[in-house]
Amino acid sequence: MEKKNIDWSNIGFGYIQSDYRYVSNYKDGAWDEGTITTDANIVLNECAGVLQYAQTVFEGLKAYTTEDGRIVTFRPDLNAERLESSAKRLEMPVFPKERFVDAITQLVAANEASVPPYGSGATLYIRPYIFGTNPVIGVKPADEYQFRAFVTPVGPYFKGGVKPLTICVSDFDRAAPHGTGNIKAGLNYAMSLHAIVTAHANGFDENMYLDPATRTKVEETGGANFLFVTKGGKVVTPKSDSILPSITRRSLVYVAQHYLGLEVEEREVLFTEMEDMAECGLCGTAAVISPVGKIVDHGREICLPSGMTEMGPITKKLYDTLTGIQMGRIEAPEGWIHVIR
Ligand SMILES: *Cc1c(COP(=O)(O)O)cnc(C)c1O
Repeated sequence: MEKKNIDWSNIGFGYIQSDYRYVSNYKDGAWDEGTITTDANIVLNECAGVLQYAQTVFEGLKAYTTEDGRIVTFRPDLNAERLESSAKRLEMPVFPKERFVDAITQLVAANEASVPPYGSGATLYIRPYIFGTNPVIGVKPADEYQFRAFVTPVGPYFKGGVKPLTICVSDFDRAAPHGTGNIKAGLNYAMSLHAIVTAHANGFDENMYLDPATRTKVEETGGANFLFVTKGGKVVTPKSDSILPSITRRSLVYVAQHYLGLEVEEREVLFTEMEDMAECGLCGTAAVISPVGKIVDHGREICLPSGMTEMGPITKKLYDTLTGIQMGRIEAPEGWIHVIR
């Protein structure tokens, strides 16, 4: 298979159109058989439910070329399950798990030329989503939907080396208690844009959102879960009904316990505990873990002992182990690696 003529090590995180996408439409209460197509554009009625009332949910995962030349995806069954809970919360039809995994498999295989080679640092980002397609003007769920998945190669996240982030405590809220913070829906991102633009304008890389009810507990950032390492060497990650259940974070917790023999606590984390933390990282598919060097709360700076030049030692071990598993250098737990070919 001839690869695309792309400078893999120097691409960023952007949309590079690939040759094939997977599409299945839902009508009269059923999904059609689905197909791989070449058309990157969607023609929608001007009144489509997604355009009027943001009825759309999505997923994000990656395909990797392993050290021994296989093409694999990482725990796609968990993305399927999360897409199911997202769809249910927005009154959308569920795209069945087996069909989801099959669609991703067909999609990545069709786009083999766009899967970055091993060692380039680049990966293939996969974006599955479902949206309401028929006209909706009175507020109610759509009757017709499309499931679509496309891919785009993305570059190494830490191009030019790791650079710990400076984050700020946001004055905006990400997710209400009993709201939609625990599902992957475009609506959660639409309302986060003003907050992130504001954070950037103030010189910060990301927002730390606190729980809206009490503003005492750490929740997550706009698109990644927190993982902390205490000064005592314990891994701590916030538990809350309004954070998105990150597959990366859940996998890192497993790696910490079963590969590194670390103690892990998943519990409410108070903002006042930040002073006790030795390391902080943001977990998500895009970067696996981005280290945080500094947390700023309205002018008060909390500098993590891991500093502003590298990942903390435990964060680094977690990062190396999970990326090693994904790239086939370290044996994976049963069921984590889905082989495309
Ligand atoms: C997607 C997402 C994450 C990360 O989830 P992964 O499954 O690890 O990619 C974290 N927080 C939010 C709000 C997200 O949308």
